[in-house]
Amino acid sequence: MLVGLLVFAAMFWPRFAPLEAAPLIALDETAQNEFRAQSLQPFSAGSTQGRHFAASEVVLRLAAAPERPQIQLSATIGENDSLPRMLQRAGVGSGDAGQVAAMVASAVPLSGIVPGTRFSITLGARSNAADPRPLTALGFRPRLDLGLVIDRQAGGLVLTRKPIAVEMTSLRVQGLVGSSLYRSARAAGAPPSAVQDYLRAIDQAVPFEDIAPTDTFDLVVSYKRVAGGDGEAGDLLYAGVARGGQPRAQLLRWGPDGSFRSLADLTGAGQAESGLFGAPVAGHLTSGYGMRRHPILGYVRMHSGVDYAASWGSPIYAVTDGRVQFAGWHGGHGNYVRLDHGGGIGTGYGHMSRLAVTPGMMVRRGQIIGYVGSTGLSTGAHLHYEVYRGGQTVDPMSVRMVQRQQTIDPRQIAAFKARLQALLTARPSTLVGPAR
Ligand SMILES: [Zn+2]
Repeated sequence: MLVGLLVFAAMFWPRFAPLEAAPLIALDETAQNEFRAQSLQPFSAGSTQGRHFAASEVVLRLAAAPERPQIQLSATIGENDSLPRMLQRAGVGSGDAGQVAAMVASAVPLSGIVPGTRFSITLGARSNAADPRPLTALGFRPRLDLGLVIDRQAGGLVLTRKPIAVEMTSLRVQGLVGSSLYRSARAAGAPPSAVQDYLRAIDQAVPFEDIAPTDTFDLVVSYKRVAGGDGEAGDLLYAGVARGGQPRAQLLRWGPDGSFRSLADLTGAGQAESGLFGAPVAGHLTSGYGMRRHPILGYVRMHSGVDYAASWGSPIYAVTDGRVQFAGWHGGHGNYVRLDHGGGIGTGYGHMSRLAVTPGMMVRRGQIIGYVGSTGLSTGAHLHYEVYRGGQTVDPMSVRMVQRQQTIDPRQIAAFKARLQALLTARPSTLVGPAR
C-alpha cells in the first residue's frame, strides 16, 4: 500500500530544470572566451581562461614599469656548480659575483660548500636599466657552526663571519640486528660512515657469525646541534651488541688513533682469563701438534701446528696484536701469513684461500688476516695454525702466553668506565634526532 502511494507520487513529480530560451546569437566556446577577455574579469573573480585582457580604453599603457627598489631571493648551489655561476644565474653581475667568490674563498674553501646550500640574496636598484642590479646583501651557512654575511657598505662589499653556537651532544641508535646488521642500523637512522665504523669495531670483539638476528645493536654517534634545532650526526663514539639485555661487547672510541677498545683491552681481563691467544678461526680442532702420518705424503712426520676444520672462506683472525712478517705463497703452507708478536713469539696461518693483509702491516687481536682455504699441501678446507717461540714451533695448545700488556693504568680504566656511563645514560632528549 505504502509502495503504491510512493510510486503514484513519483509519477507526478514536477521537473524543476529551468526552461531554456534560445540565445540571440549562437556562441561557441571561442566566442565566449573572447567576450570574457573584454570584461576585465580577474582570475579571482572567476576568469577561467589564461588569456590576457584585451586592451580597452580603461587600460592605461605605461612607457616603462616602475623599478622595484630591491629584490630578495633565495638561490641554491647545485651539483657540479660554482659559486660565481650560481650568483650570475640569480642575477648578480659578473663583477660582484667574482668579488663575492673571492671573499667567501678567504673564509671557507669554495669546494667545501655542499650542493644544496641555500643563499639568501638581496639585489638593489640599478642606476641604468641595461646594467645588472648591484648586490646589496648575501648570506649563507657554509657549515653547521658558521654563517657568512656579505653586505654593501659605504666602502663596498664587506664580509662578516657569524659563528653559530653548536651544542655537542650524542645520538644513540639501537635496534634488533635482523637479517642484515648494516641495513637495520641504517634503517634506525645511523649515518653510513658511523655504521661502517661500527661494523669494523664490533668485528674485533664478536665474530659476525656469532651475532644472532635477535641480538640488539647499540651505537652512539656524536651529534652537533645548533640553537635553531638543526643537527648533524658525526663520528661513532660507542659500539655495542647485546643479547637478552646483557651486553656482549662494549667498545669506545678510545685509542689515540681513534681505534675502538673494550674494557678488557685495557685491563687485559680477556687474556688473563683464558691465558691463551684468541681463537684463530671459528672451527674445531681436528689434528694436534706432534708426530703423525701426513695425510698426503703418507709417511710419519712432524706436524708443526694444529689443524682447525672450518668451512671454506671463513675469516681467520689474528690471535693477538702483532706485525705481519710474511704474507704470500709459502710452499706446502700455500697462502700463508706469519705474524710477529714481539718477544720472540710468532704465529703462522696456512692454506688460506685468500690473504687480507700485506707484509709490514700492524694487526690487532681479532682482526681478519685471511680466509680459510685449501692451498698448498692440503686435502680440504682447514686452517693450519702454528705458534713459534724463538723461531721454533711449539704446541699451540700448551702455550699459555698472556698478551704483553702495557701497565694497567687505573685512571685510564676509571675514565673509560665514566665515559661509557656518560654515553649510555645521556638524557633521552639528547638521544633522539634526525640523522643525516
Ligand atoms: Zn696442519
